[in-house]
Amino acid sequence: MFYFYKTFFGGLLLCLIFSTQIKANLKDIESNSTLAHPHIKGVIKVDTDNGLISCDLTIENIPKMEDLTFALNRGMNVKYMKINDKTVGYNMDFGIAILNSNLTEARSYVPIIENNDSIKNVRINYTGAFPVYDNNYVNNNYSDSQTTIAFKNRILRASYLTKWYPFIYSRTKNKLISKFTYNLKIIGNKLVNSIYINGLPPHKGNLFEAYSQTPQNLMLYIGDYKFSKVNDTYFLNTSLSKSERIGFDQSLKKIDDYFVSILNANESRQAIVLGQIFSIGRKDEYEDWGFAEYPALITDLLKHSKYINSETKKIEDAAIFRLYAHELAHKYWGLSVYSANNYAGFYSESFAEYFSLKAVEYFLGKEKYEDYLKKRYLTQKARQTKHIKLTDINEKPLKNVNPWYRYYPMVILGLEQIVGKKRVFNVFKNLLKNTNSSDFDYLYFKDTAVKSGITKKEWERFEDNYVNISNCLDMILRNL
Ligand SMILES: [Zn+2]
Repeated sequence: MFYFYKTFFGGLLLCLIFSTQIKANLKDIESNSTLAHPHIKGVIKVDTDNGLISCDLTIENIPKMEDLTFALNRGMNVKYMKINDKTVGYNMDFGIAILNSNLTEARSYVPIIENNDSIKNVRINYTGAFPVYDNNYVNNNYSDSQTTIAFKNRILRASYLTKWYPFIYSRTKNKLISKFTYNLKIIGNKLVNSIYINGLPPHKGNLFEAYSQTPQNLMLYIGDYKFSKVNDTYFLNTSLSKSERIGFDQSLKKIDDYFVSILNANESRQAIVLGQIFSIGRKDEYEDWGFAEYPALITDLLKHSKYINSETKKIEDAAIFRLYAHELAHKYWGLSVYSANNYAGFYSESFAEYFSLKAVEYFLGKEKYEDYLKKRYLTQKARQTKHIKLTDINEKPLKNVNPWYRYYPMVILGLEQIVGKKRVFNVFKNLLKNTNSSDFDYLYFKDTAVKSGITKKEWERFEDNYVNISNCLDMILRNL
């Protein structure tokens, strides 16, 4: 469970993309075909005073699935489910943690119908009641996470991983569809004055007719808070000064642009949305935590703002810079390209971490970069730890996720030490071209590298020196 990770991060932000993926073995399949994307429409009512969410949602363009179910947060109670406008019965699957890990925070509704092929639309009307917290930590819950629906101080925070809206889910194939285009009417109680949903800028007021033609994972951040915009960045629920907001905006925009230039990504840039994290868990649960649901990053902005240099207006602390760069890199690694097998952490966390380090090197300079590498990844203790070879993870899955963040990014750095940064970036450019599968492993990484012009000899050298040994950090250190 990801709340154990805090010790590894020593005061740094937890990145929960992978941790929840490992928990959920998430196969968020996305169709790149010409077929219309799954679409969700209807009404969402939120009462932040009383912790209530009521939804009347209809899902259309459901891809054909033999085993069609809908996963929905356990706190929700279904009033009715209709298929093609006719009320139907359903069985409930409460999930077995190991077999149906996608049902950890949700349960699955299995409609009782004869033929899945004729489904045009599924309407689910449901209500959930959740505890309302305030600033008094004594009365907080034991734990909080990205999969928790949290009401605190008249604000609702519901990441998509809470499954506050129904996901299309195949239990037998462990396939999950969480991204929808949408047409939603979001209604808040009287005191709600700001509504944010992924895919659109934040909206003022307690009524929002929200519409997106781009499929999104739907995060909600709704309630009694103010938002502002500085240049290209929105800020939700924060009292940061203008100069601090400029610092975040400038730093993040530069990182974003740098990744676009490395990857030749030709997509249009979205405004980043930075929201202040709040917790309903115990005070000592995390030293620091947050999560990324691009373009939204929900982090402890207030705390991190003290690392912004008031003169240069930039984040100049390597650790905090790395953290935001890591979250931004998940736009590509973890959210676009991802794996759902034993290499999930490699394609998500190790890639994001490697990219964040390249951003540190590029923006903060070689000296700070190398110091940071030595301090965080190449410590004496780290150099003595034995690791599973990257080639062997199919057979020997990692029991601890920490090496995905701290060790395997260094293996990628090993490839860089052999062929140079430019050619490694070229490999990543080609990796980014395939977002159609979720079954990427070591061989796919190798094949893509070879197709990207890494010669057989170079790859052999890489394997001999960095892959097929239980620890390559001495080698990394020697070649810095
Ligand atoms: Zn991460």
